[in-house]
Amino acid sequence: MRVLYVEDEKFLAEAVKHNLGKEEIDCDLAFDGEDGLNKAVDEIYDVVILDVMLPKLSGIDILRRMREKKIATPVIVLSALSEVEDKVNGLDAGADDYLAKPFKTAELVARIKALLRRPAKIKEEKVKYLNLVYDVNEKSLNGFSLTAKEAGIIHELLKTPGKIVKKDFLLNKVWGGEAFGEDNYIEVYVSRLRKLLKKIGTRASINSVRGFGYKIVEA
Ligand code: CA
Repeated sequence: MRVLYVEDEKFLAEAVKHNLGKEEIDCDLAFDGEDGLNKAVDEIYDVVILDVMLPKLSGIDILRRMREKKIATPVIVLSALSEVEDKVNGLDAGADDYLAKPFKTAELVARIKALLRRPAKIKEEKVKYLNLVYDVNEKSLNGFSLTAKEAGIIHELLKTPGKIVKKDFLLNKVWGGEAFGEDNYIEVYVSRLRKLLKKIGTRASINSVRGFGYKIVEA
């Protein structure tokens, strides 16, 4: 985990860096707004922490420019001054959280961790083969909802059309730790998927490769 902390009070910056280090969080420091902005734009961080009052560019300016450049890294704004106003400015400019100075490092660590636990914004993800479209988020094939295991199997097959996906691999990937003794069930799910392919009407078909596994091919 890597964070950027932009802070002109060097003593505070070093102390926070030291304490984050104990939590196994790598912390890059920048002591003025310009350097902070350059680092925020050029490097990849999990979280960026911005003091508001900084030489050259304010924390709010950095944040605005980051968001203008479509850098979506979570940002925590820190400020001692006229707290309510800074908080509002910070959140308006696209901050994810706000922490008033002085703060305890433990509180900052907790906020960083909370931000990292937030689910990433769901991006549309689809896997296509011939006329088949598998929607990863919805777990649906051409609009038909699948059970978790059907979804897992078709997803793996569609990732590598024409290539054998081994049974063991599927058991591991789809069944996880519960795979033991489930070997025969795969066939049940595959035959359900075959029926669905028929229903959809496609040239894609799931072939069994005896003793090995399955592959999806153009029939
Ligand atoms: Ca400052």
